[in-house]
Amino acid sequence: MPWYYAQEGQRIGPVSDEELTRLAQDNVVTPSTLVWRHGMTEWQPWGTVVVSALPESALCQGCNRPFLKDDLVSIQGVMVCGACKPVQLQRVREGAFPLGSGGVSASFGSGKRMIIALNNPLPSRCVCCNAPASGVKRRTFYWYPPWVYALILLSPLILILVSLVVRRTVRIDIPLCDEHQAKRRKRLGIGWAWGLASLLGMVLAVVLMNNNQGGVGGFLILTSFISVVGALIVGQRTASILSVHRIGKETATFNRVSPEFIASLPPWPGGPAL
Ligand SMILES: [Zn+2]
Ligand SMILES: [Zn+2]
Repeated sequence: MPWYYAQEGQRIGPVSDEELTRLAQDNVVTPSTLVWRHGMTEWQPWGTVVVSALPESALCQGCNRPFLKDDLVSIQGVMVCGACKPVQLQRVREGAFPLGSGGVSASFGSGKRMIIALNNPLPSRCVCCNAPASGVKRRTFYWYPPWVYALILLSPLILILVSLVVRRTVRIDIPLCDEHQAKRRKRLGIGWAWGLASLLGMVLAVVLMNNNQGGVGGFLILTSFISVVGALIVGQRTASILSVHRIGKETATFNRVSPEFIASLPPWPGGPAL
C-alpha cells in the first residue's frame, strides 16, 4: 500500500515501501517526517511507524535511519548500518559508550542551534555537512553562568575561584566525515605555523630592542603579541569544531553546527532547555 509524506506543508506521494525506505536512507525523509497511508487514522512520524509498518526493516541505532534487517550488523549488541559501523568500532576500542545506548532522539534542532541531552551520543553524521561520519573527535566544553563574569569587579582571583566551582562541563564525541577531519587537521597545522611564526617575531623584537632598535622592536613585539592571541583564538575554534552556548543540568546547547545537520534532527519540542 503506497505512502504519503509531508514536506514543507505539502503532501508528497504516493511512494512505495522501497521508495520511502530509500528516501529515508538519503535523509529526505527523517524519523520526524510525518507519513500516512490508508488505514492510518492520522499522520505519524516516520520513526515511530517504520518498524511495525515494514516488518523486514529496522532502525540503525547509530543514525536512526531505517534499513533492511539483513543490512545491519550487531556490534556489542547494538544494531548499526554500514556507515555507522566504523564509528561504533572506534567507540568500542576507545571505551566510549556505544552508539544507541542512550536511546534515540537525544539531539534536537532549535533554530540555528543544537540541543543535546547530556551523556547521549550524537547521530553518526558529520556535524559540518551531515554526510555519514567516519570518525569522532572527543572534546570537552566548559560553560560559566553569565553572572560569574561580574566578579572581575571584585577581584580576578575571586573570579577564577568561583568560576572553577560553578562551571559546568560536557564532554562529547563530535562525528566528522573524512573531508572535514582532513580540513580540521590542515587548519590546525596552519594555526600552529602561524603561532610559531608569531613567537619568532617576539624573539626578533627582543633582539632588536637589545640592539638599540627600540622603536622597531616595540612595534614588532606589539604586532607579534596580537598575532599570537589571534592564532590561539583561531586554533581553539578549529580544534573545538562546535562552540557551547549553554550547559544546563540535563542538556547542552551548541552553536556552529551546520544547517544540514540541524535540519536532520527532530525539532526541539519547545520551552527552555533544562
Ligand atoms: Zn547508521
Ligand atoms: Zn563533513
